[in-house]
Amino acid sequence: MIRIETSQIGENGYSVAGEEPGDLLDLARDPVARPDGPIRYELTVEAAGTELVVRGWAEAPLQIRCSRCAQFFSTTARVSSFLHAYESAEHPEFLDVSDDVREDLLLEIPAFPLCQAGCKGLCARCGQDLNEGVCGCAPPEGGPSPWSALDGWMATPGSWPPPGGPGRGPK
Ligand SMILES: [Zn+2]
Ligand SMILES: [Zn+2]
Repeated sequence: MIRIETSQIGENGYSVAGEEPGDLLDLARDPVARPDGPIRYELTVEAAGTELVVRGWAEAPLQIRCSRCAQFFSTTARVSSFLHAYESAEHPEFLDVSDDVREDLLLEIPAFPLCQAGCKGLCARCGQDLNEGVCGCAPPEGGPSPWSALDGWMATPGSWPPPGGPGRGPK
C-alpha cells in the first residue's frame, strides 16, 4: 500500500518515495502481464484548498507477453506525471494512493504489446516462432507467393461483374 500520513503535510507539502511489492498491481490472473520486481515511486502531496494534490512518478518492471509471438519480454511501465486530487476531509489520517498508482501503471501497458518493433510473430500454419528462424511452410525468398494464382484475375475485360447482374451469372 502506498500510504501518505496526512498529518505530515506541511506548508511546503510532503514527499514520499519508496518501493512496493509488484503484487500491488494485482496481476496474478492476468494472462498478458506479470510483475518483474518492485514498484518504485516518488510522490509529493500538497494541500490546496480543500484538496490534497498528489504529483510524482511511478514505475513497475513487468514481463509482458508479445501480441505477435506470445513470448514474454521485460519492459517497464512508467507513469511520469502522476497527478490526482483527493478531498482532504475524506482522508483525515492518511491517504492511500495505491489504487490510482496501480490504475495509472496498468494503463501504460499497450493493448498490443510487441517484444520488438519488427517482431515476425508465429507461423500461422505450424506455430514456429519466426523470430528464431524460418519454418518449412514459408515459401522460399523470391519464390512464388501464394497470391500469384490470382495474378490472372480480371484478365478478361468485361468478365466481372457477371452479365445479367448479381446472382445471375451465365450457366
Ligand atoms: Zn514478439
Ligand atoms: Zn510454419
